Amino acid sequence: MTRNGDRVKKIARVAIPVPVHEPFDYLIPEELSSSVTPGTPVLVPFGPTRRYGWVTELAESSPHPRLRKIHSVVEDGATLSEELLSLLNWTADYYVCGIGEAIETALPKPVRERKVRQVRWVRTQGESSPDEKGGGADARNRVLEFLREHPKPIPLRRLVEECGISDSPVKTLHKKGRVEIFEGLPPEFGTPGETLSAESPWDQSAPFDPNEEQQAAIQRIREQIFLEEYRTFLLHGVTGSGKTEVYIRTAQAALAAEKGVLVLLPEIALTPQAIERFTERLGPVAVLHSMLSDTERAVHHERLRSGEVKLALGARSAVFAPVQNLGLIIVDESHESSYKQENNPRYHARDVAVMRAHQSGIPCVLGSATPSMESLENSRQGRYEKLVLSKRVSDRSMATIEIIDRRKEKGTGDSSGLLSRRMIDLIRETLGRNEQVLLFLNRRGFARDVNCRQCGYSFRCSSCDIPMTYHKHRDVAQCHYCAEQRSIPDRCPQCHFTGLRQRSPGTERVEETLLSLFPDTTVDRLDRDTVTSGRRMEQILQRFREGETQILVGTQMVAKGHDIPGVTLVGVLDADVALGLPDFRSAEKTAQLLCQVAGRAGRGDSPGRVALQTRQPEHYAIACAVHQDLEQLLEHENSVRQMLRYPPHGFLARIVFEDEDEKRNRESAEQLVNRLQEIATQQVQILGPAPAPLEKLRGRFRLHVLLKSSSREALRELGKLAHSEKPRWSSTRITLDIDPQNLL
Ligand code: ADP
Ligand code: ZN
Repeated sequence: MTRNGDRVKKIARVAIPVPVHEPFDYLIPEELSSSVTPGTPVLVPFGPTRRYGWVTELAESSPHPRLRKIHSVVEDGATLSEELLSLLNWTADYYVCGIGEAIETALPKPVRERKVRQVRWVRTQGESSPDEKGGGADARNRVLEFLREHPKPIPLRRLVEECGISDSPVKTLHKKGRVEIFEGLPPEFGTPGETLSAESPWDQSAPFDPNEEQQAAIQRIREQIFLEEYRTFLLHGVTGSGKTEVYIRTAQAALAAEKGVLVLLPEIALTPQAIERFTERLGPVAVLHSMLSDTERAVHHERLRSGEVKLALGARSAVFAPVQNLGLIIVDESHESSYKQENNPRYHARDVAVMRAHQSGIPCVLGSATPSMESLENSRQGRYEKLVLSKRVSDRSMATIEIIDRRKEKGTGDSSGLLSRRMIDLIRETLGRNEQVLLFLNRRGFARDVNCRQCGYSFRCSSCDIPMTYHKHRDVAQCHYCAEQRSIPDRCPQCHFTGLRQRSPGTERVEETLLSLFPDTTVDRLDRDTVTSGRRMEQILQRFREGETQILVGTQMVAKGHDIPGVTLVGVLDADVALGLPDFRSAEKTAQLLCQVAGRAGRGDSPGRVALQTRQPEHYAIACAVHQDLEQLLEHENSVRQMLRYPPHGFLARIVFEDEDEKRNRESAEQLVNRLQEIATQQVQILGPAPAPLEKLRGRFRLHVLLKSSSREALRELGKLAHSEKPRWSSTRITLDIDPQNLL
């Protein structure tokens, strides 16, 4: 019996991965009483079936009569530490989802480790060649020969196949002590001892010394590691300023002090090259990403849990990795919206990382060349400590940025209208010097803003300050936050031009045009249509890196983190696209994206050049990107966001309604909004229901409601209520998103 004082705790509260906020109560059978503790994975009866769950706490009594018993403890399942359990409790509570759902995200499914028989060569001194003699020596020599060439452990089954023999020669060699047969984990994720052996020392040295700014940042973070105190650092370093070196040296300091380190990267940046940069200098690492199988995830988790590996490198969900004695968390590219999970639990890994650091009393480093407005405001208010890397390493200069004002152009340079004369000249010059060109066009085929092609005037909602969206069938512009509508005049109110409703084509068209303009050039395209897998993307980038491709055209996929030294011209074909998105972050996203794209130029020895085509050159987002000045951007954004209470000056939650039937969807949404309006206090503002910018998705009509408040608590209370309400029609799917990133 689990005793607490004299009272006996016979009841376990079990989190089961279903969308119910509270855990379920079960009786602990006598024989399991010593093995059931908070964090234990268990199998429990659930309706007519059995399900996995995790014990979150023990209790003396339960309000529910007639409890069922825990069936068994999952012997090889992953046990949750107290630290992680408390982090997951916070996550479920904050993002309003089931505790079981949160745990399921954090942990690999309990799997039995499929151990297989493997063979390892026993290296003996002075052994020169396979020298087996006597009966069957041929087969044995073949095995030895093979193992000499492939000294890593290999599953017995594969060895037998490779050598074309039965397994008896291998067993004979085992008896003679020339090979070893052992039970081990399948080698696709490495055998223990292989990645960790002392024979593969990692090179801890760097080919350079950190510069002054790097040194100062490293120093501050190290101090905090040794103090063992919570603090969040915002490492704001321009592209190419050597942020990774700061991560590596501070991680080294934590590891040397026997502490664990957690490094988060956006999934897209988790390339073999990036992983190598860390492992080269930091040694054994558990790499966690979404492509792993359950077994692989389980193995990495086990190595972390046992303390065998102290460093975890991973994407979003790795924020819950069971790193032992955690001493430092690093979030690279912390502004990336991919840190936000777009299904339940809708957590933001950057914010969970900060909370984990807070709960564990350790430093957290948020690195970025283009921090979010939230992070900048947090640092301005002193909640985060800012560390700045203002220069590129090795005196490399930032790229020069040239604005091409498309309003001033007479005619266009090409038939698609996407390339200006100036842009074509720049491309030609660059190709003439045998250098490479990266062209960027972020075109999404929906939510078209109404925007004057001549003067750049854009229709915005007077109460929400977001671009209004053109609806062709009704011929009106509508705000997708508050649903306000306006008819569109025939002429632009600012310059009286008559082309308000025209749009331009996308990446495929650019590729075509380029091929006709530069017929002897190899052009490649990187977007959702050409990239069908991570490998495919690597191939396209590899070809570009090796100089096989001269021009690469792409969507925002090309903007992120790729380091291609041969690129000296980066062309942004339409800097205004993101400005037209119906999202209060559109200026922020535009400036971030342009800064990131600009950072792709001149990473090698030749200086880089960036050309931006725009119709709104005076827009502050574009001006701030040109000067790479995000503080200036915050200044502008703050004035609007303060007034309209958008984050970081207010909190936001979003409720999305989806139904195949448009009428039912509206009725469900209206009923819930009415209900919310009855109980909402003055503190929360309810906007909508309005059509979501993506009005129809996979056959479903979509509406959304925004909740705005300056009180996080009031907002979440209302959100919880919305989450627990049954919709008017059962066919309507309702989702709640706290701190939404995606408003489309
Ligand atoms: P960021 O992540 O800030 O864009 P990186 O960390 O990728 O920049 O660094 C850019 C390049 O500069 C890398 O190749 C890195 O090895 C190199 N580097 C970093 N610090 C220094 C330094 N102090 N001196 C010389 N080279 C450096
Ligand atoms: Zn509005």
